[in-house]
Amino acid sequence: MAGFSYCTLGSGSSGNSLAVWDSEGLFLVDAGFSGKEIKKRLDAIGQAPEDITALVITHDHSDHVKGAGVLSRRYDIPIYATRKVLGGKFFNKERLSAEKEIKPDKKFNIGNFEILGFEVPHDASQTLGYRIQSNGSCMAIATDIGHMPDRVIPILKGCDGLVLESNHDIEMLKNGPYPAYLKKRILSDTGHLPNTESGDVLIKVIGPETKHVTLAHLSEENNTPEVALETVKTILSSNKVKGVSVIPASQEEVGDVVDLRRPFAHSS
Ligand SMILES: [Zn+2]
Ligand SMILES: [Zn+2]
Repeated sequence: MAGFSYCTLGSGSSGNSLAVWDSEGLFLVDAGFSGKEIKKRLDAIGQAPEDITALVITHDHSDHVKGAGVLSRRYDIPIYATRKVLGGKFFNKERLSAEKEIKPDKKFNIGNFEILGFEVPHDASQTLGYRIQSNGSCMAIATDIGHMPDRVIPILKGCDGLVLESNHDIEMLKNGPYPAYLKKRILSDTGHLPNTESGDVLIKVIGPETKHVTLAHLSEENNTPEVALETVKTILSSNKVKGVSVIPASQEEVGDVVDLRRPFAHSS
């Protein structure tokens, strides 16, 4: 069957993982939960860790890699990451089943999937977003981004689905309980993308083919799903962008399965 499906297993500062699969294989982008928790969340969508063929890593912050070592060893799964990430503080100490070095702006293949990693500004060893395509369907994931560089905009265009960071409401963050150094870090050019900028990015990249947008990596202190949705939808409607389903990803729960095999339909 042409196309593929994807689903956020969870998204936020306590853990991130995206499952991507077609009839022939499954891989994860990030493994920021324990091995046990990832198994439980895969169960919820009828998938199993034994079937994971690759772990593709965005960056080496623990909310993205916590379970990567254990999954790699237990199920003999290769880790796909850049040299800087594989050589960084986290993976340096982990024993892995196999390392597959990837490079920004250079496509690689996993099963039927063609994947392009692109660098985004964030304070890890190195941080990539990914554009994933197979059989004429395409999605992109970009989270943990201080600001969106102009060079990334064309890469996010032309996708059926997007998983984009919508981390915080700037006023909630400024007036919230975080210590000053943390507020400064999140607001910096290498921190996290606020709701307003997420909306601004979406109006540039959404085209007629774009049907599914997942707002991801929502802060639990400085954002709510309602605030993120309201902010982004207001920006979309004031720019006359219509016909797109926008859903916030959850930290606690597995998201809807987005099925690009049956164009433009949610399976749940
Ligand atoms: Zn993160
Ligand atoms: Zn991060």
